[in-house]
Amino acid sequence: MPAMACCVDAAIFPPGYALAGDNSLPAPENIFGASPATNTTSSVVDQSSHWSPSLSASLYRIDRWGPPYFAVNSSGNIVVRPYGADTLPHQEIDLMKVVKKVSEQKSAGGLGLQFPLIIRFPDVLKNRLESLQSAFDYAIHSQGYESHYQGVYPVKCNQDRFVVEDIVEFGSSFRFGLEAGSKPEILLSMSCLCRGSPEAFLICNGYKDSEYISLALIARKLHLNTVIVIEQEEELDLVIDISRKLLVRPVIGLRAKLRTKHSGHFGGTSGEKGKFGLTTIQILRAVRKLEQAGMLDCLQLLHFHIGSQIPSTSLLADGVGEAAQIYCELVRLGADMRVIDIGGGLGIDYDGSRSTESDLSVGYGLDEYAAAVVQAVRCVCDRKFVKHPVICSESGRAIVSHHSILIFEAVSATAANTQPMSLGLGFQYLLDGFTEEDRADYANVTAAAVRGELETCLLYSDQLKQRCVQQFKEGSLGLEHLAAVDGVCDIVSKALGATDPVRTYHVNLSLFTSIPDFWAIGQIFPIVPIHRLDQRPGVRGILSDLTCDSDGKVDKFIGGESSLPLHEMGGGHGGNGGGYYLGMFLGGAYEEALGGLHNLFGGPNVVRVSQSDGPHSFAVTRVVPGPSCGDVLRAMQHEPELMFEALKHRAEECGHEDEIASAALESGLARSFHSMPYLTTAATVTCAMVNSNKAYYYCVEDDNNVEENSRADVGDDKQWTYCCA
Ligand SMILES: *Cc1c(COP(=O)(O)O)cnc(C)c1O
Repeated sequence: MPAMACCVDAAIFPPGYALAGDNSLPAPENIFGASPATNTTSSVVDQSSHWSPSLSASLYRIDRWGPPYFAVNSSGNIVVRPYGADTLPHQEIDLMKVVKKVSEQKSAGGLGLQFPLIIRFPDVLKNRLESLQSAFDYAIHSQGYESHYQGVYPVKCNQDRFVVEDIVEFGSSFRFGLEAGSKPEILLSMSCLCRGSPEAFLICNGYKDSEYISLALIARKLHLNTVIVIEQEEELDLVIDISRKLLVRPVIGLRAKLRTKHSGHFGGTSGEKGKFGLTTIQILRAVRKLEQAGMLDCLQLLHFHIGSQIPSTSLLADGVGEAAQIYCELVRLGADMRVIDIGGGLGIDYDGSRSTESDLSVGYGLDEYAAAVVQAVRCVCDRKFVKHPVICSESGRAIVSHHSILIFEAVSATAANTQPMSLGLGFQYLLDGFTEEDRADYANVTAAAVRGELETCLLYSDQLKQRCVQQFKEGSLGLEHLAAVDGVCDIVSKALGATDPVRTYHVNLSLFTSIPDFWAIGQIFPIVPIHRLDQRPGVRGILSDLTCDSDGKVDKFIGGESSLPLHEMGGGHGGNGGGYYLGMFLGGAYEEALGGLHNLFGGPNVVRVSQSDGPHSFAVTRVVPGPSCGDVLRAMQHEPELMFEALKHRAEECGHEDEIASAALESGLARSFHSMPYLTTAATVTCAMVNSNKAYYYCVEDDNNVEENSRADVGDDKQWTYCCA
């Protein structure tokens, strides 16, 4: 404890300091120096030495999980590279510029939206889709595989209308389709696929009743390339029955329960005891049933799903190989097999470690994944002289994770060092309130401090505190005295270096709404300040959200860290009046639909941003405001209109006769219903007003001319219409 020793040396002690019961005891700050704690944080990281954006890239592991879409530029801001590895330097999108455009007040040329904010990049989505397709195209070509790859997007990963519409549009040239797992999902898939490739699959998974099956059969009537995948034996009877009634010839798939087991968190659905799929016996029974119904030719697809985040290509090849054997057996049994659907599970390397050992990472990329699948199917089919099937995959996480970024603001942080004795009451006054025993303890604290025996110091200060807490509970000690004792203990433990230098950053966010998987299953996403990365982060912190819930905090980060390197708040340049902005990356899959309404915080504002060759390198092409207080209340069956009327009535009863005053009261109430549940900070006050009218901006998108319009810059007022709904 050299720091402490030096503080003690420097302290000035009045005479008689060590005598128990002496009323002239020194104030604690005199024993330990002014504030030993001031050095605590700066000693963690030396502020003065050189720092650079590339050091930040490695500290936050952006150089590992980021490529090819995220990097740090020379100004220390995170940039999005919308075309992945093919992005030219001038096409990079500086996230802070987007944040500025979106959050700045309208009068300053911004869109006046408040945080939290989801920024979607359709270019990234397109690049992911194309990269997946070309990985399979390459594997198929290089291995001489004699059929093609035709994927589907499982809409459960993110059912947002614009995400699904984008995927259908971007994938239509390579027949990309959709997978649904419930009745609303099949409805949205049916309507979206009306604008997709006619060959695109509509794969119907999940538990099915007669309504779901009827819908799937109607989809076939509408010439959507629909496959009903039998997950439960009973579904087959319904399919046979209803298809006869509706006079539709169905295309049927079977979901096989494989023996291959994925042992990670997401492997619960795999293996013999898995939740879904038909066992070997059930598969054989289904084949017999179809044969008897004269419908064996309808059986054309074999599906399986090992689970999400498949850790390694060896496990993948094992599962695909097993499924390919079943596929060949179904061919032998007389089914008109055409497609092997390998399910989802193509993983994301959240921490960039390329490890096969954790749920946070996977040990392969798109190319290795595709190569392993193609090879496993080809080997089995070649050995059995079976025609190569079309390979379908249901990769969800891998397609949508990268394309959206959650941006949120830190609104305050706990102070680095509290000044416990600044009550201004005078130390002598406080000492007078202590008992003899308390004073003896305190004298021992100071004596031990002078001798440099810090452990002893801590022992006495703990004893003092315990006794004083007891006295307080009994009513014999005042609040000021208790605070003074807390102050003494703080100073002692800081001098000992025992205090936790980790600070708490309060963020304008609900974990339960925006990062539900962190709370539910401990899923960790990369979280990084999106600016100031040219400055050394001198603090370590955890993030605490807005909810009144002790679980509403992020205290686990990639790399096994329990705190995050952060910058002092308020010291920022650029941005919105010194705001401090953090981004959560790779969270485009699952989080939005899983998120709840805890404490009635609804979803964030969402903007869609495309690369543009205009002056700003980007264009905001759509804004979808997050739910207002009224919206979230409605979700819980409250009726905001009636609530407002009731409150207005109450105001009248309370006799606010002054017309101006009552009008102000009324509009204040109305505004509260229309604003978002999140905190409005100084920079975002006007946006609350914008949202208050349920107003939104949109870019006039002429469907025949989307390309041109979506490239329009938001600054161009002609392209933007302001709506009040
Ligand atoms: C959830 C799910 C998927 C998507 O899995 P990812 O790991 O996100 O690719 C695909 N197929 C089925 C049947 C699923 O349940």
